[in-house]
Amino acid sequence: MQLFNTVMAHAITWVPRALVQKISRRYIAGESLDDAVGRIRQLNSLGFKVTIDVLGETVSSIQQTENTADEYRRVLNAIQDHGLKASISVKPTALGLLLDTQHCEQLLGKIVTIAERHQTLVCMDMEDVSCTQKEIDLFANLASGHTNISLALQAYLQRTYQDLDSLLLTRSSLRICKGIYLEDRSHLVDKAWNDRSEINPHFMNHIARCFEMGTFVGVATHDIALIDQVIELARSRDIDKTMFEFQMLLGVCEPLQCKLLGMGFSVRIYVPYGKDWYAYSMRRMKENPQIAGYILQALMSR
Ligand SMILES: Cc1cc2nc3c(=O)[nH]c(=O)nc-3n(C[C@H](O)[C@H](O)[C@H](O)COP(=O)(O)OP(=O)(O)OC[C@H]3O[C@@H](n4cnc5c(N)ncnc54)[C@H](O)[C@@H]3O)c2cc1C
Repeated sequence: MQLFNTVMAHAITWVPRALVQKISRRYIAGESLDDAVGRIRQLNSLGFKVTIDVLGETVSSIQQTENTADEYRRVLNAIQDHGLKASISVKPTALGLLLDTQHCEQLLGKIVTIAERHQTLVCMDMEDVSCTQKEIDLFANLASGHTNISLALQAYLQRTYQDLDSLLLTRSSLRICKGIYLEDRSHLVDKAWNDRSEINPHFMNHIARCFEMGTFVGVATHDIALIDQVIELARSRDIDKTMFEFQMLLGVCEPLQCKLLGMGFSVRIYVPYGKDWYAYSMRRMKENPQIAGYILQALMSR
């Protein structure tokens, strides 16, 4: 079955779109903001915080970037109106980072300003390596005028060591994740291209640095070995539970999410919604070690 799963993870691009949509329901709150609000209310009632992502990545027109920014404004209003325990996560390419960097900064700046008024946090997701420096610069510009913005960093990149050093000086709040994009191995930490567990020591180094510097950090992983190490590190260094949170994706490792919550940790669920579900779902499905089983299940229940 493991071999079959590996084959399916590679062959997933040939799976019909309708089937991908069916399987992706576990990873996506729905197509509309109302769908997302319903799901978030459920999660909040169980004790989870959430971060909301409006699906959509690289865009091809300024009009699309404006539409995405409008949708984020609607999200911020919904958080306020429904009293949701939620932050937002934004992919700068969806606001036109690669089309017009200045315009992207203006749009994101307006979103961050409204969010600040609502006391809502905004996390900038980190995208592929062609965006890394641009996103760090964008973050630095916005963080100099706002306190409610944080940035994701990817432990699979070698450069994260240097990036973290400068970000820690500004006491920025951060999210550390392994990293999801297919990158040239010249950018990656040793052996990360063969085995994702090779990223773990680097991930831990970054978490340890955040703890040392007293920076709030989101530990974004489902890797149980890594989570155990973070818990042990926090315990041994007497790090207060308010200084970090675990972050996981909607529909991934749900028993682990509940277990951490039960242990008294803060757990934030990344909740994506929107019409542009395909690219996001494909990445989640490729990462799922039980992917073949899900495809078979979906096929049988057609
Ligand atoms: C809240 C959050 C925010 C993120 N933000 C970013 C970002 O800004 N930029 C970026 O590049 N990446 C981001 N990621 C993705 C991240 O980089 C990883 O690709 C993803 O989380 C899987 O890596 P992992 O740390 O869980 O470890 P892995 O070693 O990949 O997985 C560990 C174990 O988790 C389980 N697992 C992982 N994924 C799945 C799945 N889809 N279905 C079922 N089980 C699974 C499996 O049991 C696997 O063995 C984010 C992840 C999270 C949780």
